Amino acid sequence: MLFMEKDNDSTEKTPLLEFASREEGILSFWRKNSIFQKSLNQRRDAQPFIFYEGPPTANGRPGIHHILARSFKDLVCRYKTMRGFLVERKAGWDTHGLPVEIEVEKQLGFKNKGDINKYGVEKFNEKAKSSVWRYKKEWEEITERMGFWIDMDHPYITLSADYIESVWWLLKQAAQKNLIAKVRRVLPYCPRCGTPLSGHEVSLGYEKVQDPSLFIKFQITNPQSKILHQYKTQNKKCRINLLVWTTTPWTLPANVAIAVRSNLNYKIWQAGDEILVSYNTPPEKDNVSVKMIGKIAGKDLEGEHYQPLYQYPLDDSGKGKKVYEVVSAKFISLEEGTGLVHIAPAFGEDDRILREEKDLAFIQNIDTNGCFLNNPTGITNVKGLFFKEADPIIFADLEKRNLLYQGDLKGTVHDYPFCWRCETPLIYYSQEAWVIKMSKLRSALLENNKKINWIPAHIKGGRFGQWLEDVKDWTISRKRYWGTPLPIWECPQCGHYEVIGSLQELKSKASNPSLVPPRNKKGEIDLHRPYVDNIKMKCPHCGAEMSRVEEVLDCWFDSGSMPYCQWHWPFAQSSDLNLSVKESIKSIPFPADFICEAVDQTRGWFYTLLAIATILDIGPAYKNAICLGLILDDKGEKMSKSRGNIVLPMDIIGSFGVDSLRWYFYTMNAPGEEKRFSQKDLLSSQRRFLNILWNVLNFYTTYAYQEEENSDISLTVLDKWILAQLEETKEKMTKHLDHYSIQEAGRELENFADNLSRWYLRRSRKVFQKREDEKQWKDSSFVLRKILREVSLLLAPFCPFFSEMVWQTVRNTNDTLSVHLTDWPVLEKKYRDKDLLVTMDRIKDFATQALRLRQEKGMKVRQPLSSLRIKATEEKLKGKRVLMNLLKEEINVKKVIFSPQLEKQVEIDFTLTPVLIREGIRREFVHKVQMLRQKEGLIPSDRIELFVKGEAQLLKVLQKQPAELREDLRAEKIKFLLPEEQILSGRTVKINDKQLIIGMNKI
Ligand SMILES: [Zn+2]
Ligand SMILES: [Zn+2]
Repeated sequence: MLFMEKDNDSTEKTPLLEFASREEGILSFWRKNSIFQKSLNQRRDAQPFIFYEGPPTANGRPGIHHILARSFKDLVCRYKTMRGFLVERKAGWDTHGLPVEIEVEKQLGFKNKGDINKYGVEKFNEKAKSSVWRYKKEWEEITERMGFWIDMDHPYITLSADYIESVWWLLKQAAQKNLIAKVRRVLPYCPRCGTPLSGHEVSLGYEKVQDPSLFIKFQITNPQSKILHQYKTQNKKCRINLLVWTTTPWTLPANVAIAVRSNLNYKIWQAGDEILVSYNTPPEKDNVSVKMIGKIAGKDLEGEHYQPLYQYPLDDSGKGKKVYEVVSAKFISLEEGTGLVHIAPAFGEDDRILREEKDLAFIQNIDTNGCFLNNPTGITNVKGLFFKEADPIIFADLEKRNLLYQGDLKGTVHDYPFCWRCETPLIYYSQEAWVIKMSKLRSALLENNKKINWIPAHIKGGRFGQWLEDVKDWTISRKRYWGTPLPIWECPQCGHYEVIGSLQELKSKASNPSLVPPRNKKGEIDLHRPYVDNIKMKCPHCGAEMSRVEEVLDCWFDSGSMPYCQWHWPFAQSSDLNLSVKESIKSIPFPADFICEAVDQTRGWFYTLLAIATILDIGPAYKNAICLGLILDDKGEKMSKSRGNIVLPMDIIGSFGVDSLRWYFYTMNAPGEEKRFSQKDLLSSQRRFLNILWNVLNFYTTYAYQEEENSDISLTVLDKWILAQLEETKEKMTKHLDHYSIQEAGRELENFADNLSRWYLRRSRKVFQKREDEKQWKDSSFVLRKILREVSLLLAPFCPFFSEMVWQTVRNTNDTLSVHLTDWPVLEKKYRDKDLLVTMDRIKDFATQALRLRQEKGMKVRQPLSSLRIKATEEKLKGKRVLMNLLKEEINVKKVIFSPQLEKQVEIDFTLTPVLIREGIRREFVHKVQMLRQKEGLIPSDRIELFVKGEAQLLKVLQKQPAELREDLRAEKIKFLLPEEQILSGRTVKINDKQLIIGMNKI
């Protein structure tokens, strides 16, 4: 066999492996025999292992990162099934929210919400509902093709009425705990989508950008000013300025105050002919020398007035409030800037709170589309501009008016949030929104996080734990159309509101109960807008008509609700809705034993699952979570359409087969690390493992006796060793997989395959290929068959197709139909042999080093040499004569000599005697003939006759060893021809650069 030889004179040859097409054959075998169904059915009464599927959105194409996560999900579910658990796998679809709406808007060519309102909510939502399934078929195809076993026939769907009713019920639980509130806050807001976003959505969309950096001079004006008094006297013309740093010049027209820290000592600087107040040294500037000339306490700055940069006429609500004044605040950071902070309460949450504390005026000069409402005094051309577009205009204006101390339009590089769906820059914007007060649940969240086993472990206290430490209230309302309608009815008169938790409750409170449940035009129950909006209630306090608030729910609440809503909990389980949550939760699978997604979900699905379970006060929603690193391209860049470096999963699967891809994902690095996807690495991973196993399987079908095992077999030392090796592999893999250490488990199996191919089979050549001893051949064949059966079991969770292929080749008649209906292999103590493993490792070490010496010397492996010295005592390896023979054969030396005094580990005598040279030529010739036999498709028992002609010296050497040649080649006849004789269809080979022509007949 090719793979058995380290053949220096042939380039690396990979047998053409039609993995992909074989996999498709196996798929139809599974389908035809309902293997997935059977694997579940045979565990019906077993203990469940609970898995939750994070729902993908089917209006986007499946990407390579989905294959990554699904490979890990599938592996764990298959492993646990083999370990005896019932592992139900219900698929799910995420069908609501901005991702869907934006696709429809693109289709219809809409620019903003105004277009949707004109088009009509009903028609828009109909479009959204059908667009949800745009790539469903692709998803189903790739799910099946990659061997991800999940029940796609009964998925949960977040747009279904049952699902929505359960979501309402969850919101009602939050309301009953006073966790839902309507607030006015400065929240991240997408001006294109016209809606606030939650903190975890914002965290999905940060990008590094170059933004302006401006040091601005606010001139002190009030006549009573202490600084003015003290420093003005020195120089009558001198201006005194508060120095303020900002990266958002567009917010300056809405400035109403400057904040300082009262307990801080600020410094007064002479900069040219101006005086500046700043805690930190002002930045350098050409031709201006800056020196400190005094200090002033923050509290002495309070109450100073300054000349506003811009002004808008204040409306009535602003009259009598403080404006353009220095006030104190606690939140001021000193790491950047000057310690003096510009305050615009419309655009910062700290600013908004400070406004309430200090009774400041309020300026809102940006509309809900993110554009300037009016021009402030002094500027004529910002009205109607998108907020960021005003930056250069304001910059230039300040510069012109000598109000800019120093600045650069691209002076700072920082992370700025963009809308995670439409990529519009977000604006922090003062608005009303519905929130769940997660900040009240901080300690409960942290407590629940302690109970989760994170893989990798650092997620717990790191990325996820940190997120929980600074948890913010969850903005759940979206001023949008396609989503779970917020089940909140509000009174326009007195502000009273009710959160509705079921259709039953809705019917009992509606003033038009005949509209409950709401139905669409087709007469189907449909809880979406606009149908639900027709239902009204009477305010129990003032009697006015209450309407549903217009907002829909954050779609991340939908996906975080799947543990409950996928079962229409609690409605489908019991008619008694008054059961306590703790009691009622027992009727559904909760919590998950295992979930798995990529690291971007720490603030997405991982978080919302935990948040909702914490609201319900039922512990964490999952016990073990694998958090995968993101996939990047081979240069470490994010994959994106614009970069053109996206890898299409079906292309990869079509060329390499999905098992190669899965194996690559499992073993390339630890699950949590970044994955740089490279086809080259994928190929070398395939070569390192699946190709080796493929060759072993071929070896088995070519050379092994293929009957089922009988009793009373005698084992060679190699048989014993490989069985002991297998036991160790089984034990380690089981331990690793029980701890979700998937990479480690995979590497054990890879090692085993290497040992199997490169040592066991390589050194068992006499047994299998030469078949010197018929009984031993059969016995070792049983061993090889047993090994392959167990390897296919160990491989089954990783590479479901390849393992099936192996199983179908080696399974016994009373074995299960598919490898995926078997149990995980049990440990067999009788095969353990630690001593043998240790000794063999030593022998293999000697072999590796000796082969390296041969290679360095440029000495072909087939050239026999006289002796190998090893640094070992005979006593230590006593009784291991068989093992010494293995070493002799591997190194191709006539004898092994023990030399305890040797300096190096091994030493080879490279002297070539004529006898050795002759044998080398013969071995080389035998090898060429074997390659020809393979090319002709001959099996070992086939007999041949040979015709040889060519270089005279070579022929002479070969002619001298007729008996050895016949023995080596299983040849009946070897005929050496004269130069003038002809060979029909002979092949030319080269030995030591000399030519021979070999002809071969099967007889
Ligand atoms: Zn947006
Ligand atoms: Zn009322």
